Amino acid sequence: MSDSPFAGPPRSPQHKQCFECGAVLNLVDKSCWMCHAEQPLLGKLISATPIPPPMTANPWAKNGVIWLGIVVAVIVCYGVLRAGDYVLASVFLVFAVPTLAIVMLGSAVSRAAGRPWGTGTKVGVAAGTMLTTVIVCIVAAAVSVLVLFAMFIAMIQDCFRMLGGN
Ligand SMILES: [Zn+2]
Repeated sequence: MSDSPFAGPPRSPQHKQCFECGAVLNLVDKSCWMCHAEQPLLGKLISATPIPPPMTANPWAKNGVIWLGIVVAVIVCYGVLRAGDYVLASVFLVFAVPTLAIVMLGSAVSRAAGRPWGTGTKVGVAAGTMLTTVIVCIVAAAVSVLVLFAMFIAMIQDCFRMLGGN
């Protein structure tokens, strides 16, 4: 965790690239040191923060978050098992399994597509899945309560009909 993602300072000032041969030139160079082609004033600017540094810095942060998630999941799992509460255990499973499955499946699919998910995306998807599961659970609970209530009403009506028939 000691490695900051922003640890790489812009160690070199801005450079530009020769539009002929691609050699790296200083911003003020008027001609290429390699092919001697005359350079436009700004040329192709090479940004001071290219893409590789975040890519090499990220795995530490990403692994940290993933390990933190695993540790939290193990602790929660252990707590649920210790509690011996089957309702709690099934609720935990209902929430954890779809979330894990969707995050793992989604990141595998996007990695195969060449655009792997960042940690933020994974956390976002996990939160979204969790939220969806909560909503689905609430809706399912509401529907089942309504269905049970309707069955109960129907049963009572049947009882009254039977009583009335006799
Ligand atoms: Zn050149």
